[in-house]
This record gives sequence, C-alpha cells and structure tokens, in this order.
Amino acid sequence: MQEKPYFCPNCRSNRVKFSVITSYAQSFLKDARSGDITEFHDPGIIPEPEPTIQCLICSFSGNEMRFIKQAEREPRPTSYY
Ligand SMILES: [Zn+2]
Repeated sequence: MQEKPYFCPNCRSNRVKFSVITSYAQSFLKDARSGDITEFHDPGIIPEPEPTIQCLICSFSGNEMRFIKQAEREPRPTSYY
C-alpha cells in the first residue's frame, strides 16, 4: 500500500476509515472417501500488484489508485485556524 492520502470516490466524505481486501489461499487435506477435512495448513496471502481498498463509510471498494487519484483531485482543504 502506498503512503498517500485516500479519498473515497463514491461517497466523497471519507479520507480516514478504510480496510484493505486481501486474498488468502489456504490449503487443506481431504479424506478421499468421507470427504472430511483432515488437515488445514496456514493461510498464505496471495500477493496483488495493487491492493483493493474498501471505504468503511459507504462500503464502496476499488483499486487503491482510484482512492489516491480522488485525493489528488480534491485535496483536503487547508485549515487556517
Ligand atoms: Zn465511501
């Protein structure tokens, strides 16, 4: 993830609360006859070139770049007080 400001392009009210959506792969062993799962292995993160970000205000999710671009288009207004 990039250390750049985000701004939700959907609700356009959130710059703070996000979650990152990550894909995991978890391998397991199955009993060939009963179908029971006999063993779970530790999950491994599937690396993605660009993370998917979700806005926790409106639940919109999209590529990180969309959030960064929106923040660049509409920078946070500077407060003088
Ligand atoms: Zn939003």
